[in-house]
Amino acid sequence: MIAVLKPGTTPEQTDHLVQWLKNMNLDVHISQGREVTILGLIGDTSRVDMDLLGSLEIVESVKRVSEPFKQVNRKFHPQDSVIEVGDVKIGGGHFAIIAGPCSVETEDQIIEVAQSVKASGASILRGGAFKPRTSPYAFQGLGEDGLKLLLKAKQATGLPICTELMNLVHLDLFADVDIIQIGARNMQNFDLLKEVGKTKKPILLKRGLANTLEEWLMSAEYIMSEGNQNVILCERGIRTYETFTRNTLDLAAVPSLHALTHLPVLVDPSHATGKAWLVPPMAVAATAAGADGLMIEVHNDPAHALCDGAQSLSPEKFAEVSRKVQRIREALK
Ligand code: PEP
Ligand code: MN
Repeated sequence: MIAVLKPGTTPEQTDHLVQWLKNMNLDVHISQGREVTILGLIGDTSRVDMDLLGSLEIVESVKRVSEPFKQVNRKFHPQDSVIEVGDVKIGGGHFAIIAGPCSVETEDQIIEVAQSVKASGASILRGGAFKPRTSPYAFQGLGEDGLKLLLKAKQATGLPICTELMNLVHLDLFADVDIIQIGARNMQNFDLLKEVGKTKKPILLKRGLANTLEEWLMSAEYIMSEGNQNVILCERGIRTYETFTRNTLDLAAVPSLHALTHLPVLVDPSHATGKAWLVPPMAVAATAAGADGLMIEVHNDPAHALCDGAQSLSPEKFAEVSRKVQRIREALK
């Protein structure tokens, strides 16, 4: 971190500031120009409040020269992280498709979808039991009963399961869940992040509705700083001024994240587009952009889905996408 001091700052004022910084366990390199003094802060600057430093009367500007995230940073962990979910691996060349309905609705529905997506290439089953719905009047998910049905589908197919945790009071119910999803709306629910960070379970951290890559990585840092290294990122589109699609899929996030972090990056083209017909091309594009996997909503009867039917693929369409994605992966080898 670099702090540029205002012209006219006296040596006493500079000394005072340097001492303040040294008290934070930092070394300070002073570069004394003819007009301007620049302080180079050396050490762990992650705890320095940039805004506070910048607001001091003698400080002209403050600039970070290294990222504020450490554990997620590729600089300190150059090799790709591979996250293991049962027998399934994600990251470092291992590709996984998580597929299933937006919400668990009935036993027949979840088992039928689980069997069909397994047959056509998905290696993890998704399904919401606790649903973050925009309207309080919309279907809120089956809750604990939904989790039980998901576990039945896991037993029936052997597929690991991924489902969203919204409230810490439910954490104990997630003992047999293989991946805990933290949804877009909770990406910055820091208490939730800290608690799932104390578990050993893989955490699928979706990107917030309007969050930057840095904010997202800081959320991953929250989980990792509590000891849980099993974090998977999932780009699911962000809000922009475009309204044609439900969100705007930020595909550049995939290679950007690969440069910034060692964590695996998935793409969810379903929530990113909101339209079933846009899911296949975006799934293919995400794969080509280097995603480590996909999350795709699949329903056995999209027209009658209780949630997100418009963006859900039929099992047949999913099978087609899965084949195309496989071909892209072959081509990239
Ligand atoms: C979901 O995956 O069902 C979901 C609600 O996604 P998001 O948090 O990305 O909106
Ligand atoms: Mn959904």
